Amino acid sequence: MTDLDTFRSETRAWLETNCPPEMREPVQSEKDMCWGGRNWTFQSDAQRVWLERMVERGWTVPHWPRDYGGAGLSPAEAKVLKEEMARIGARSPLSSFGISMLGPALLKFGSDEQKKRFLPEIARGEIRWCQGYSEPGAGSDLAGLQTKAEAVSGEEGGDHWLVNGQKVWTSYADKADWIFCLVRTSSESKHSGISFLLFDMTTPGVSTKPILLISGNSPFCETFFDDVRVPKDQVVGEVNRGWDVAKYLLGHEREMIAGMGLGATDGTLGSILRPDDPFLRAEVAAFDVDALAFAAMSERFFEMFKAGEAHPASPSMMKYAGTELNKRRHELVMAAGGSDALEWDSERSSEGKAARDWLRTKANSIEGGTSEIQLNIVAKHILGLPGA
Ligand SMILES: Cc1cc2nc3c(=O)[nH]c(=O)nc-3n(C[C@H](O)[C@H](O)[C@H](O)COP(=O)(O)OP(=O)(O)OC[C@H]3O[C@@H](n4cnc5c(N)ncnc54)[C@H](O)[C@@H]3O)c2cc1C
Repeated sequence: MTDLDTFRSETRAWLETNCPPEMREPVQSEKDMCWGGRNWTFQSDAQRVWLERMVERGWTVPHWPRDYGGAGLSPAEAKVLKEEMARIGARSPLSSFGISMLGPALLKFGSDEQKKRFLPEIARGEIRWCQGYSEPGAGSDLAGLQTKAEAVSGEEGGDHWLVNGQKVWTSYADKADWIFCLVRTSSESKHSGISFLLFDMTTPGVSTKPILLISGNSPFCETFFDDVRVPKDQVVGEVNRGWDVAKYLLGHEREMIAGMGLGATDGTLGSILRPDDPFLRAEVAAFDVDALAFAAMSERFFEMFKAGEAHPASPSMMKYAGTELNKRRHELVMAAGGSDALEWDSERSSEGKAARDWLRTKANSIEGGTSEIQLNIVAKHILGLPGA
């Protein structure tokens, strides 16, 4: 038996004993997901117990170093853990922008002090983050952002930044504890005048206003900063060099969004959708072939990405392919469901889950950078097309 076989059998045994049965059921809605943070209310005892047990083992961030709340697993061990969780249908114990986006950026660019301060809290789900990138005039052209941070040396408050401006499409800003935010600290150069700043959402001068979506949910906000004072040492990386941090984080965000292409289980549909219509059956079969190819490609790309060997444009390729696949999956679910799937709120369907999930996938090819922008990046950096 190899070390990895031993790790697999121990992991399997631990999960069998410690993952509550309720946490092995598919997630039905956002309510089933655990976002953590200082104002979090657990939906059930099982949700709390599952998070506590996984935190204790360092398995909310299995590949992070032990000093920062992880388990220090090798990529091969982390893959085994993922497979064993999938085998019993175990839910992720924590959904967190801290884990999927900010954590990797802090590990690479954060000071020792920032790592010690924030990473263990992220691993334990004690702090909920939102992402302050987009602005009304800066989405695809992100480096055009105008939210300003001025360095101020004050007699009353010591050295700090004074932040003024507006962000938009800030997911969960009204529920987040802290924000990772791009601000302009110099106007001399578009890309070299941006800094990456962390601050508490309860700081005076921060306010949020929800935006309602087509799906009926409202996870988005407009976020306003009005003379927000932020301690100087909350810049990650060098002042005016935040674009490097921003891009690195975007790679991880795109990798995470690409993962939606893998679906909830093995990503295929044939085992759950068996429409009578022969044309639809053929489409499901064609989809499943593409889904299996995507799963194989993801495995290779994600391993290269984690090992630092992937091409810088590969998250864009994966994000494009994964989000288009996820949209196709939900189109097929809707087509197979017929008029029943269009139910929104009626006797047959109280949540309108299929329709809401389908509408939500429309945003996959916008969030984290649109499909057009990903294709531009692929054209420029991989295909070497002129003018892209
Ligand atoms: C579900 C969801 C969650 C989000 N969450 C957050 C969040 O938490 N924090 C945050 O900061 N932002 C968030 N966003 C914002 C998201 O990052 C932006 O919407 C996205 O980057 C596009 O920017 P935009 O909306 O300004 O569109 P625009 O940049 O105005 O683009 C409009 C259209 O023009 C196309 N286009 C623009 N430039 C080019 C070009 N050069 N070549 C070809 N086509 C082009 C785009 O592809 C798009 O189709 C979220 C968005 C969604 C949908």
